[in-house]
Amino acid sequence: MALLPKTPDWAAGLRAEWHPGEEKAQDYLGAFLNDTLEGYATLRDRPAGVSTSRLSPYLRFGHLSPRQVWHATKRAVQTASHEISLADQDKFLSELGWRDFAWSLLFDRPDLASTNFRPEFDAMRWLDEPDMFTAWARGQTGYPLVDAGMRQLWITGWMHNRVRMVVASFLTKHLLIDWRKGARWFDDTLVDADPASNVMNWQWVAGSGVDAAPYFRVMNPVLQSEKFDPDGEYIKKFVPELRHLPVRALHAPWQASPAELTRAGVRLGETYPCPVVEHRFARERALAAWKASTG
Ligand SMILES: Cc1cc2nc3c(=O)[nH]c(=O)nc-3n(C[C@H](O)[C@H](O)[C@H](O)COP(=O)(O)OP(=O)(O)OC[C@H]3O[C@@H](n4cnc5c(N)ncnc54)[C@H](O)[C@@H]3O)c2cc1C
Repeated sequence: MALLPKTPDWAAGLRAEWHPGEEKAQDYLGAFLNDTLEGYATLRDRPAGVSTSRLSPYLRFGHLSPRQVWHATKRAVQTASHEISLADQDKFLSELGWRDFAWSLLFDRPDLASTNFRPEFDAMRWLDEPDMFTAWARGQTGYPLVDAGMRQLWITGWMHNRVRMVVASFLTKHLLIDWRKGARWFDDTLVDADPASNVMNWQWVAGSGVDAAPYFRVMNPVLQSEKFDPDGEYIKKFVPELRHLPVRALHAPWQASPAELTRAGVRLGETYPCPVVEHRFARERALAAWKASTG
């Protein structure tokens, strides 16, 4: 269809990462069932390495159907030479369930891409700060986990689920920017961009959605980073300018000592940004905005 980009060719990272088509999709499904399903329930929140199926683009474009994945999973559990726990199987199958739930929700409420599921959010006073949005989209917020996620998205067209939650929370709560802007960016950049899953999940994180995470639960990007990328492997891969910092400082470079920064070749504000907003301030501002809008 002559749609591949040429000048500039920005798709090299996508080509390296993804091999479209049914045959490859089946290979990846097989590899996931053999190697990654065991332990999925406990490891799926780790963004470094392969901890999930990465089947979302294939499901999105119909290279695989959810039914095929469901039945292949059931078969693999019965025939596996090693034991796959019920927890691993159930957790994975329930994720497929979320996908279908998102579609049934959109069927019921076709306006969900533009409208808050919970109308009390209509009064929310979102900020209009294009510079902040650009810092977020380009992975230049000064919070390494957020930046790693946004750069993974830009380079590969995909982002790990845990990090999607962190970056979405950061945009809607730390930066107080409307979830619809974030959803549009994801829609433009994700290889698995799905009209139903994308909107349901953005609204879920923002707090405006069905069965949503409460707005007052503001994810702390440093604690999330320490918990889910404890060795900083994910950060080092996508934010390589920080890779020589000690692990502790990788999660919050502004807490590193001047000597640690010098040794690692990091100059905050030059080679890597200072945080665009301070966590405690941002949290309180978000809570105040939420209280003001919900009365
Ligand atoms: C803000 C935000 C936006 C998102 N946008 C999309 C999107 O546009 N398209 C998309 O497919 N997923 C989206 N998700 C859900 C989830 O992040 C991806 O489905 C998942 O990361 C894909 O990786 P995987 O195939 O390795 O998932 P696995 O963990 O292996 O899960 C298997 C399959 O289950 C489905 N699934 C898993 N988690 C979810 C979920 N939370 N909601 C709906 N379906 C799920 C996917 O089809 C996935 O391929 C979004 C999540 C968030 C927090």
